[in-house]
Parts: sequence; C-alpha cells; structure tokens
Amino acid sequence: MIVAMQEGADEGLIQQVIEQLVKMGFEVHRSTGARMTVLGAVGSGIDFDIRILELLPGVQEVHRISSPYKLAGRSFRPEGTIVKLANGIVIGGNEIVVMAGPCSVETREQIFSSAEAVAKAGAKVLRGGAFKPRSSPYSFQGHGEDALKLLREAGEKFKLLIISEVMEISQIPLMLPYVDILQVGARNMQNFNLLRELAKVRKPVLLKRGIAATFEELLLSAEYIMAGGNYDVILCERGIRTFETYTRNTMDISAIPIIHKLSHLPMTADPSHGTGRRDKVAPMARASVAAGADALLIEVHNDPNKAWSDGAQSLFPEQFAKLMDELRMIAPAVGRSIG
Ligand code: PEP
Ligand code: MN
Repeated sequence: MIVAMQEGADEGLIQQVIEQLVKMGFEVHRSTGARMTVLGAVGSGIDFDIRILELLPGVQEVHRISSPYKLAGRSFRPEGTIVKLANGIVIGGNEIVVMAGPCSVETREQIFSSAEAVAKAGAKVLRGGAFKPRSSPYSFQGHGEDALKLLREAGEKFKLLIISEVMEISQIPLMLPYVDILQVGARNMQNFNLLRELAKVRKPVLLKRGIAATFEELLLSAEYIMAGGNYDVILCERGIRTFETYTRNTMDISAIPIIHKLSHLPMTADPSHGTGRRDKVAPMARASVAAGADALLIEVHNDPNKAWSDGAQSLFPEQFAKLMDELRMIAPAVGRSIG
C-alpha cells in the first residue's frame, strides 16, 4: 500500500501515520522528496479499511496495491485454473465449452427436444432451471426435483453434463446427485451463507456476477467459496444494470479480459441474460469468444414463443446451430477451439 502525505505535512503528522501503519502490522518504507513524503507499507495480510488511513490528518491519498482476494487473484495461480468436469470435459482449457438449454425445465417433451437440439449443435452441457429466481412471486417458480430428474435423464440420453441454479442452502444436497455444475445466480452472488456452504461441496460452482457488482465484489464472492476449500469456481458475466433500458441488462464484454487479468478462474459469458433479446444474443456470443471467454451459457428452447420463462431471449434451435458454426470459425482466430 502507498500512503502519500500532503505537501507540507509536518514530521508529527508523518509519525502518526507511520505509527498507525505499524499498529496495523505493516513494515513501513519512507521516501522523502523535496516537496512531499510517500510511505510504502508492506506485509500485512490482515483485512483493513483504507479509509482509516485516508482520514488521518496530513494524508493526501492512499492506494492499495495487493488485492483483498488472495485465492481468487491471478497471482495465486498465474498459469490459470482448469476446472475438470465429467467425461473429460474441462473449462479453462483450450476448448471453449458451450452450455445451452432452456431457461427453465417445463415439460419432458420440452427438455428432451431442447437437449437433443443443443447436443446436435455441439453443446457439452445442458442448462435448465429447476428452482427459478423470478422477480414476481406469481411467475413460474420451477418444478424442483422433478425438473432435476428430467435434466439428468435428458443429459444421459444426449451425452450432456448438467448445470442448474441453486438458490438456497437446503437445495444443495437435493441437487448434488443430478447436476455437474451448481449455478449461483446474479441475485445470490452475495448470499454469503450459501457461498460458504458451496465451499464444502466437491462439485464446480458457476458464480454469476451480480446485477450491480464490481469485479472486486465478484472476486470476493469467489473467495468465499475457495476459502472454504472448493477451488473449482467458474465465473460468469451476465450483464449488469445501467441507465440503458433498451436491453434487459448491459452485457459487459470487457469483464472477460479484465477478469482474466485479475483472476486465474475461468470466465463464462451469458449473452442471453446479458441482452435479454434473442436477436442480440449471437453477436454478443461471437464477441465473447473473440474477447477470450472460456465458456458460454446460452438459452435455447425448442419452441421459444411458448416458453414459460425468458422466451424472448431464447434462441430457436436453428439459430443456435448457426451460431455454433460461426463460433467454430471465430475460436481459431483467438487460438481456441469449440466442440
Ligand atoms: C438463469 O441463468 O436462468 C438466471 C436466472 O440467470 P441470472 O442469475 O443471471 O439472472
Ligand atoms: Mn433465464
């Protein structure tokens, strides 16, 4: 951490700041220039609030250099993390993994037909909500365990792994036999009790960025899961809330290279929730691959206009197949491949 003192701050004020830093566990290196003094503080791993320093008399600016997330930070594993799934599928390797399927599991016919379509087009993981976080309590809330059973059956039939959203702690043991990846939705990114429980699970967790979350907050949430012992965390950009109302959310493509710089964890892009409009999903998926995404999460429905949730952002099977062909051309341009 760097503490820059105000021009003209006298020795008494400088000593006060040094004493505070030492009390916080830092070793202090002092550099006195012609006009101002700069203090370099190194060595404290303790969590602290930099505002305590900013408010001390004579302090001009305080800059944190090391990140508050240790396990999720890039320096913990500079080479990057590869999350291993079943069937030899990995996320974070050379191959970009596509996870696709409907927003929610509605009927046997719907999930089997959607699964067949996404498998045929090259997806490796089937998505589908069994527990749905809906803005309105009157909207469809998901079929729960029945939906999980259907997902698993469809996954086995079409050789697809399964990802589904976990909304609360009590659902974890129920979901484990059915899913390969537990998804934490945007609304639960800072449900710290849920994250702590997921830390004890031996299954990968896909953690979505909250609708108004900073990168630091996303990585601190990942840190909760890792600090408890589960290092298999996959991050996901799904659009954030901005002043723009045309799209459902603003898809932040820059999150992909930024997270890759800040963290070693694999990064997924969800252009379906990121835009909320079917016609914008393919361009954003293409851009995400070009920007370096390790995986994509895309809503595809066998009959989107009849979907019980998120039909407007769900691709028709033919659109998804076309998109996969396009992605197969883009991926090699950035040194990647796609299934
Ligand atoms: C979903 O993937 O269906 C979902 C609800 O996503 P999010 O948490 O990003 O809104
Ligand atoms: Mn959805």
